[in-house]
Amino acid sequence: MFTDQGDSPHRSPELFGISLSWELDGPILLDLLEQQKIPIWNHERKNDDPIVFGGGPVLTANPEPLAPFIDVVLLGDGEQLLPSFIDQISKLRNLSRKERLQILGQIPGIYVPSLYEPKYASDGTLLAIEPINSEIPNSVSKQTWLGNTLSHSKVITPDAAWPNIHMVEVVRSCPELCRFCLASYLTLPFRSPSLEDGLIPAVEKGLTTTKRIGLLGASITQHPQFAELLTWLNQDHFDGIRLSLSSVRASTVTSKMIKVLTHRGCKSLTIAIESGSEKMRALVNKKLSEEEIFTAAKYANEGGLKAIKVYGIVGLPTEEDTDIEATAELLIRLKRTIPRLRLTLGVSTFVPKAHTPFQWHGVRPEAKKRLQKLTKQLKPQGIDVRPESYGWSVIQALLSRSDRRLAPVIANVRGSHNSLGGWKAAYNAARKGELLNTNTQSISLTMLPSWEEIIHNSWSSSRVLPWHHIEGAIKLNQLIQHQKQALKNQA
Ligand code: SF4
Repeated sequence: MFTDQGDSPHRSPELFGISLSWELDGPILLDLLEQQKIPIWNHERKNDDPIVFGGGPVLTANPEPLAPFIDVVLLGDGEQLLPSFIDQISKLRNLSRKERLQILGQIPGIYVPSLYEPKYASDGTLLAIEPINSEIPNSVSKQTWLGNTLSHSKVITPDAAWPNIHMVEVVRSCPELCRFCLASYLTLPFRSPSLEDGLIPAVEKGLTTTKRIGLLGASITQHPQFAELLTWLNQDHFDGIRLSLSSVRASTVTSKMIKVLTHRGCKSLTIAIESGSEKMRALVNKKLSEEEIFTAAKYANEGGLKAIKVYGIVGLPTEEDTDIEATAELLIRLKRTIPRLRLTLGVSTFVPKAHTPFQWHGVRPEAKKRLQKLTKQLKPQGIDVRPESYGWSVIQALLSRSDRRLAPVIANVRGSHNSLGGWKAAYNAARKGELLNTNTQSISLTMLPSWEEIIHNSWSSSRVLPWHHIEGAIKLNQLIQHQKQALKNQA
């Protein structure tokens, strides 16, 4: 069933699940619940309403803003969590909703938000998030799948976001630990299934249905057998298949890799440089030299690709205007070195993500001007600049940094109010006590932090964070060390 194509609701589902990869998709959950005629607030659901569960990076990193809408969050890998969750659900069918949630909340990796209560100081500062009874653990830790297979597409259709492509997950997580990177920190350890038992069977399955294969993962070329995978895909009997790759580490690009990609219908190469400034690359722990960037571009050019796409970030902690100039200067030199290739810069604003060493840093307002500056300098040079909206990055930060007091704001901005101005107006209305507080009866919404505090301010590392009770892959004191290390290198 495709929820965005007007298919009618399932008549009596027992479970309703959603995986969220992007903060701004949060309000969609509420639309989908409404479409399915499920009460949007978890405390309004009755015994025969479905259990609403979720997972994915957004809900694993910081489930709190959506906590009042969700019954169960699966923290970590679905391969590890889903079988026991489904098994329990089928065993607990005859119990009341309250009893089922109480039992589910004691299973490792299963977080039941309604069984936790935030405690606030009189000024609205979050003091703790505590279980409401002694059988529920103080914190819930993310679960990790260590089997020799990762995921691949189960449904291939022209109606999908990537039409007719069979996606194969080549690696999970990334060992590089760039200090802002959720895809790395949240999903550690780095895992790479073997070619013979994991990747080849997954690709072969897709080839029974389609000729388009997408290789996915945060850092696919770091799979220890990636070169062998390409050699296997380059065999003559696979002629006619088209290959697509997610972004690759520039330092791992080889001329052989580009030849195979061109042969298999790839048109472009995507690399993330983050910044043209060496100082910024050192700050974020991006172990990438200028020489490696130019070498990757040279191979792309010589191998016959048509385009190269470079990703960058502005507004990083300690960034100065000179760092933006360094990015512009590097891109211009790159364009002059490979004039034949279409060069695109995709550039976003730094947004702090939970469980990363930069989680305590705010969104820098200077980023807005820096995005404009890069666009203005690079477009006349024939470089296609695609800046992400600064305004929506601010809303992303609101969703990634808030606690469950944000829920009435999310409920309010849906539909016609889901605009940048609508978010700020709803937030201010909540602070003034003008929004109905249907979810957090004991908490006054006037205690919401200021917009400035939640979006832009840097926070002390001793602050109790909304995701304090969610244990990620890396302990808090290690994250503090990584943050200190990053900033020390800038001194
Ligand atoms: S190389 Fe890319 S995926 Fe890996 S940690 Fe850095 S930004 Fe994240």
